[in-house]
Amino acid sequence: MSCSVVNLTKALVAIPSESSRSNLPVMQQLCTFLYSQGFRVTRYPQNGPSTGPEKTNLIAERGNGTRRLVFSGHLDTVPVGERGQWQHDPYGAEGIIGDRLYGRGAVDMKGQVAAMACACASVPEEVLRNLTLTLAITGDEEIGHVGIKDLAAKHVFQRAVGCVVGEPTGLRVVSAHKGGMTVRITVRGLSCHSSKPHLGVNAIEQAARLLNLLGERLAPWCAQRHPAFGEEPPTFTVVGVSGGVADNVVPDSCTVNISARALETGHFETFRAALEGIISELVDDDTRKGVPPERRFSADMDLLKWAPPMVCDTAGVWYRTVARIAGQEKPEFVTYGTDAGVLNQVGLPCVVWGPGDIIRAHSVDEYITLEELTTAVTHYRELICAVAASELPTFTTSLWNG
Ligand SMILES: [Zn+2]
Repeated sequence: MSCSVVNLTKALVAIPSESSRSNLPVMQQLCTFLYSQGFRVTRYPQNGPSTGPEKTNLIAERGNGTRRLVFSGHLDTVPVGERGQWQHDPYGAEGIIGDRLYGRGAVDMKGQVAAMACACASVPEEVLRNLTLTLAITGDEEIGHVGIKDLAAKHVFQRAVGCVVGEPTGLRVVSAHKGGMTVRITVRGLSCHSSKPHLGVNAIEQAARLLNLLGERLAPWCAQRHPAFGEEPPTFTVVGVSGGVADNVVPDSCTVNISARALETGHFETFRAALEGIISELVDDDTRKGVPPERRFSADMDLLKWAPPMVCDTAGVWYRTVARIAGQEKPEFVTYGTDAGVLNQVGLPCVVWGPGDIIRAHSVDEYITLEELTTAVTHYRELICAVAASELPTFTTSLWNG
């Protein structure tokens, strides 16, 4: 059984698959390869929150063992953006230049999906007598991990020993990453003609009262720590403010979007509670000052999206097996999120471990090198063989209900 990781990466990069498009063509391309290599493929049409045209996610398996080793990746990409800024074809039409394959998704993460698929395809049948290899390939990662949430709700990863999420880490083994949450606070006011602003309540000025309190009131939340992240704090930042309709109108609404990065799932709840605390404090302030009810501070909060953090037990045999193959001594964490958070949430021990530099993701002239691709295949193969030869403990995942 043989395969070319470079050709497969090229074929995947050639098919546009930003999250706003249907991912059926790029999934079909991968399936053609998987069928040719004898994988059993199950497609799971994606339901849940609508993200535009038809999407599908898939599970592909080889081997007949009761234990499973899972590899996961996404085939959606961020948009190409301004085509004129690219010096190279964003769909890899130039082929290999030097040692590089350029194109949107090359390093995030079509190259990694190709490397995982080729590594799984290249292991001889006899190695897989006691092990099943599972590829979990999704879409809509870039817009809130939608594909993996849907897949994890439908497919139970029975007796898995662990999961590699192949996002680009320069093949460093990442054992923890933060989770992310975005909330929208809608602050209400009373509109009136802007020549008599005292008759209304300016929602933007009200929002400024809230913004002024964030730093101080959330300081205790930011002071929390988790052993997997050392001195790295949970963080938050305001990512959007919008309000106002015209020069001559006092605005009656202003929305504030806040993005938080948490070290553990429980931090999301305490973050929300802290924001609710600030809102109540402002209402109480106004009440104490005798502000009439209709002019008091008023706001409500919506959760726009969230994705769980991932923490892998670095004393456990799963992490140690991967770290040994990677030749890595010290555990590492990253601050960005991946699908590993969702898989971790349903009980799978995960690591993020993939070739290429994250710096090249989402940027113009994105590329992956041939050496990165072939090294990744070698490392993934070594992991497969090590797991096949070992007696790693297994976990059965529970259903996702987030
Ligand atoms: Zn990615």
